[in-house]
Amino acid sequence: MPMKVGVARETAQGERRVALVPEALGKLTAAGLEILVEAGAGAGATIPDQAYADAGATVVSTSDLYAGSDVVLRVQRPSAEEVTRLRKGQAVVGLLGPLLDPPLMQALATQGVTAISLDAIPRTLSRAQTMDALSSQANIGGYKAVLIAANEYGRYFPLLTTAAGTAKPANVLILGIGVAGLQAIGTARRLGSVVSAYDVRPETAEQAESLGAKFVKLKTAIDATGAGGYARELTAEERAAQQAELNAVIANQDVVITTAQVPGRKPPVLVTAEAVRGMKPGSIIVDMAATALGGNCELSKAGETVVTENGVTIVAPENLPASMPSSASQFYARNISALLLNMVKDGNLNLDFEEEVTKATVITHDGRVVSEAVNKLLNPGGAA
Ligand code: NAD
Repeated sequence: MPMKVGVARETAQGERRVALVPEALGKLTAAGLEILVEAGAGAGATIPDQAYADAGATVVSTSDLYAGSDVVLRVQRPSAEEVTRLRKGQAVVGLLGPLLDPPLMQALATQGVTAISLDAIPRTLSRAQTMDALSSQANIGGYKAVLIAANEYGRYFPLLTTAAGTAKPANVLILGIGVAGLQAIGTARRLGSVVSAYDVRPETAEQAESLGAKFVKLKTAIDATGAGGYARELTAEERAAQQAELNAVIANQDVVITTAQVPGRKPPVLVTAEAVRGMKPGSIIVDMAATALGGNCELSKAGETVVTENGVTIVAPENLPASMPSSASQFYARNISALLLNMVKDGNLNLDFEEEVTKATVITHDGRVVSEAVNKLLNPGGAA
């Protein structure tokens, strides 16, 4: 019997993406897999059920999807209610954020479900690049953050000379030059603004400059390159030195877009309340790192837009990829298909724990949490 792969309808608030788009089905069916799609799964991304049916899938009810699938594909982690629908021997694949919700991973393990998380792929492994959903979605976020800023900004982004006068180009600062930051630089440049950018990893200077941004070089040299191409957390001294210098740079900007993250930690504060007070009225901040725990701007409120007393607008969108659901789903579908096909042999899921991607992404299996990092969070005292 062919393995059945189910596409779940996302239920998280505001989530409009879907794990597979019809165009992605061909590769999976060619590998001998049968595709089930929960009715309405593509609605948020304006994909009708019929489009999945035309591409060879069977559209089913929620209960049939969970009862009939061997592997459930999704974008976000399942809700507590969806976890109870999953059963022993099934697998669930998605951006599960296992480190953000270890108890849910434990619940999946207890239920006998194999949880496979796309955000745990080894990103520096070149053959895993097609599976890198963090990158494909961060790209969308970086692009959309600039559009939001341009929309909120009361002036032109480009230099414009007209019979009615001349508009000065906007000064845009991008803080954090990872995947989202690089896309934000490119997008802000395409809109004609003058772009500068800053990161604590010195190798990003050349990448930013190649896209037409000026790299902000602070007098206090900081090299915070951490493991796997990520940044490490700054020391208190480094933070203080960075802040003082950054405040002066921020004061000259019309728009600041922040994207800085440190894996497993609260995002660093790069734009303090004092720095916001130093900005001109009409300036815009888009904080891409904002979560309930705080963001890159001390004053941002996740999911809200705040206007300060001195007229600075701070936008802190929570799920930018979901605001561009068609492209986000198209790219995500490619990522999740590549990950799944990497684990399929002769039409069945075949987990080879010697293989790097499988080893890194399987979080629960055979009734146990197998991810060391999640186990550490579940048992901070030691013995797993
Ligand atoms: P991220 O989302 O973790 O962070 C965004 C950026 O914020 C990073 O560039 C980081 O250096 C920066 N940052 C952190 N603390 C900061 C601070 N205090 N001040 C200023 N900036 C700060 O990063 P990401 O976009 O996920 O990318 C992380 C790395 O992974 C990059 O090196 C990227 O090139 C790499 N990557 C590699 C591959 C690959 O090799 N195939 C694929 C994707 C990403």
